[in-house]
Amino acid sequence: MNKSPDTQRMEKIVSLCKRRGFIFQSSEIYGGLNGVWDYGPLGVELKRNLKNYWWRVMVHERDDIVGMDGSILTHPAVLKASGHVDTFTDPMVDCRLTQRRFRADQVPGQSGTIYKFDQARDAIPPESAFEILAINWAKELVPAGESVSRKDSIRLALLVSDHRKFNLPTPKVDPSSVFKLFIEFADKMSAQPDISKDDVENFRKAYVSGPAASGDSIRLLQRKGEDKATILKRADAFYQLRNILIPMLSPSTEEVTDSRDFSPENGAELTPPRPFNLMFRTSMGATETEDSIAYLRPETAQAIFVQFKNILEVSRKKLPFGIAQIGKAFRNEINPRNFTFRSREFEQMELEYFCRAEEGMKLLDYWLGERLKFYENIGIGRDGLHVKTVSDEERAFYSKGTYDIEFDFPFGRQELEGVAYRTDYDLLQHQKASGKSLDYFDEETKQRFVPHVVEPSAGVDRAVLALICEAYSEDEAPDEKGKMETRIVLRFHPRMAPIKCAVFPLLKNKEHLVAKAKEIVDLLRPHMNVFYDESGAIGRRYRRQDEIGTPFGVTVDFETLGEKDADLRDTVTLRDRDSMKQERVLVKDLPGILVSRIT
Ligand code: ATP
Repeated sequence: MNKSPDTQRMEKIVSLCKRRGFIFQSSEIYGGLNGVWDYGPLGVELKRNLKNYWWRVMVHERDDIVGMDGSILTHPAVLKASGHVDTFTDPMVDCRLTQRRFRADQVPGQSGTIYKFDQARDAIPPESAFEILAINWAKELVPAGESVSRKDSIRLALLVSDHRKFNLPTPKVDPSSVFKLFIEFADKMSAQPDISKDDVENFRKAYVSGPAASGDSIRLLQRKGEDKATILKRADAFYQLRNILIPMLSPSTEEVTDSRDFSPENGAELTPPRPFNLMFRTSMGATETEDSIAYLRPETAQAIFVQFKNILEVSRKKLPFGIAQIGKAFRNEINPRNFTFRSREFEQMELEYFCRAEEGMKLLDYWLGERLKFYENIGIGRDGLHVKTVSDEERAFYSKGTYDIEFDFPFGRQELEGVAYRTDYDLLQHQKASGKSLDYFDEETKQRFVPHVVEPSAGVDRAVLALICEAYSEDEAPDEKGKMETRIVLRFHPRMAPIKCAVFPLLKNKEHLVAKAKEIVDLLRPHMNVFYDESGAIGRRYRRQDEIGTPFGVTVDFETLGEKDADLRDTVTLRDRDSMKQERVLVKDLPGILVSRIT
């Protein structure tokens, strides 16, 4: 079952990430850059641990995979051949009221009453009628030098009415009472001997039977809990943007269920979907011409395909073999959201595993299994992971099989990684477009052919977010005085934890304790990332480390110095973050114990 979104949990996670220096919004002091994030001191450690582990498992521990690091700036021909220039698009829709942009396939179905406004006429006279009013009838009543606009129509009509003693009441804000004012005004004017009949007739014609000030139509959805007044206010806003000052509205209504035609924010009609290319384009060199175009890569994979032949030659690998890469990718996402989940700049960890056509489907399943194991080994339990077999309709046309590995984020079940059998599509495309052979010579069968490929493609940022979401927990722990309090703890797998061990002298004003603690820091530092903290009560120091997921805490006390019990000299307490249990261990054993528990 897909779990329902847990907004509160997500808010706590986002706030912790900022408070403790995992993730900040990019350019925050300038109001932030939407969809772009900076990793702080702890975030960068977590991210590095993840990438290093991926590299270790995918490259260092295997004979059949080599790495590469391709450029971000990409030749347009590469992305033309791969299909990205023409088809790397998302369907985009805009709210007709606020111009907010959404991805059409992410708009939720909504039900309610549709109010359809076909047009709106303005209760304020149109320009042609306004001129008659202002120039012929009210000119001498407007103080010299004061400029008047259509917006002043009511004031002018009331000035004339006062002057000629028509006794027309001041209209209320509603459009029909404004309309009534001008109709009555025209009637009264027609009885004025000094006013030409033509003038009055022209005013009346322009005002009453003149064209509606806007023929633009809009549909607005009244959702559960919204009243009609809200809808009319939105319609007002729509027509006011079209220069109708006081719109007179006469909507028709109809019921609808599960429609994706309306903005999830305000129920206003969305434009029909249009394709929107997600690539960031830039220009190389001093002059900007068609020939200077380059793209920021939208995925790391293409560099691997383009360098396939070079790497095959230098690595002298035999099929099946893979090329792995970790690096930045850029997509101008229409609607970046859910914290770092959908960003415009992100990192990918991609493997292109080349093989013979007949091995493709089997290797697809093999890599799915390997990738699931990977997530379990970094502390994401199998329960929170889900494998979606991507259907024929949803799959890229060249793929013979694709799995999405999904994770239960607090905002819903979403893709963490795609594992796709891409056939020989990419290499064939580049071979055709470049005119260079990208084939493989099989020495046993003496055949030449273009290999097929299976691609596990993971997002670094999504995996980091999944690690934080999976690790976040709250439990109860005693404070200094033994009173139970809520403890926030990130239960990272020790392998992923940004800091592996914190070292505390019991008291910061005892020189020998401090010296010993620093000695222990030096002892551990070659093996892991350690953190020294001497400030505050020991319980508080533990809590600070719990909150950032440090799995182990070492406290140096008077026993360590042998001051209380000679047998305990050179021992420390080693505290476990999750169980909060403490054990006494010899200082010299610490590196061994910790390294074995971390890995
Ligand atoms: P989605 O459908 O969520 O847009 P996708 O299917 O387009 O993703 P792929 O092209 O398969 O994604 O990219 C592989 C991986 O790269 C994804 O599984 C994800 O982890 C990561 N990724 C893709 N787009 C983004 C993004 N905008 N922000 C962060 N990570 C991303």
